[in-house]
Amino acid sequence: MSRLFSGTVWDRPPTCVRCGRLEAECQCPPAPVVRPQLEPAKQTARVAREKRQKGKQVTVVSGLPAAGNDLPALLTKLKNSLGTGGTVDGETLVIQGDQVDRVKKFLADAGYRVK
Ligand SMILES: [Zn+2]
Repeated sequence: MSRLFSGTVWDRPPTCVRCGRLEAECQCPPAPVVRPQLEPAKQTARVAREKRQKGKQVTVVSGLPAAGNDLPALLTKLKNSLGTGGTVDGETLVIQGDQVDRVKKFLADAGYRVK
């Protein structure tokens, strides 16, 4: 016994795209929130030299919003590239030493606009 539309999309009740169960039976957790990442070319990074305690020089990168960038990952790449230490401080990256020129080149190479 086959119904007219058996096996076509018109015959199927809605199912979950993730687990394939009927929506009424689905127990999938809510979809994780994916933060949209901003394109580097649409952002302007500001790179500045600052003096901290005891005359220590640091290089500060600002202008890249944390919501649109993976700042910890960017910092890791920067540190590896420069061979120096640094931290994420809110929405800024703080690199040890006077690295302005090298940081600017790194960010420009990564596609960011740099000021
Ligand atoms: Zn599901």
